[in-house]
Amino acid sequence: MQIELAKKLGFCFGVKRAIKVAEENRDFDTFGPLIHNQQEIDRLKLNFNVGLKKNLSEFKTGDKLIIRTHGIEKKDLEILNERNIKYIDATCPFVTKPQEIVREMSNFGYDIVIFGDINHPEIRGVMSYASGHVSVVLDISELKTMRFSNKIALVSQTTRNIDDFTKIAKYLISEYKEVRVFNTICNATFENQIALDELSKRADIMLIIGGRESSNTKQLVKICESNCQKCHHIEIADEIKNEWFANCNLCGISAGASTPDWIIDEVVKRISQI
Ligand code: SF4
Repeated sequence: MQIELAKKLGFCFGVKRAIKVAEENRDFDTFGPLIHNQQEIDRLKLNFNVGLKKNLSEFKTGDKLIIRTHGIEKKDLEILNERNIKYIDATCPFVTKPQEIVREMSNFGYDIVIFGDINHPEIRGVMSYASGHVSVVLDISELKTMRFSNKIALVSQTTRNIDDFTKIAKYLISEYKEVRVFNTICNATFENQIALDELSKRADIMLIIGGRESSNTKQLVKICESNCQKCHHIEIADEIKNEWFANCNLCGISAGASTPDWIIDEVVKRISQI
């Protein structure tokens, strides 16, 4: 059986940048997990004493905090400044962009529509920059129950599928007079998706490596399942089962944007042994 890695997989620009920030700032704590990958979080704690605090209330004056790639809500940033907590901002520039668009368009009087998951921290952060009306939707059926003013600005969660975003944009354009569409889907996600799409159409079995909570990994799994009958989402090599590979000639591998290379290497090694 051959093993083939997707042409683009794993760590994206934003995550590489955040990991570098953490490695260069020993003894800081991240507010929420830096990335959706427990194994990498454990490595940062072990080697760089970069810890994890889940609530802002756990940070006291004088503490040192790293803001993760997803960014934080505007009110939380204000709290950090009020409490004099030292922070380093590792928000991915691709997340800062929709934050700025929402702030600006909202100030111009546009209703904001965000295509994404309202429970995702990135979206909580982005929507917090709206000064007026803001709605978060995942599909057109939700939009149909809402009414907006005739000026709408549309942005997307960075990890969403471009085709789904286009459908939302088309619907709004057909219903409202002025719709400003900002494609804020990040290239890293897009490139990983295209590479996976190509490989998963040829592979007999696909392994997608990434955190169970990782939104972009879940997107990869969704694409994979529509192309390949044997698609397995794993976090680490230990989850692999020998029987998965019976009668398979080509095993394809892809990984979410928060999966480190060392975990991908372990998976390849394990399959090679099988
Ligand atoms: S997936 Fe894109 S938006 Fe998210 S951290 Fe990576 S580069 Fe930034």
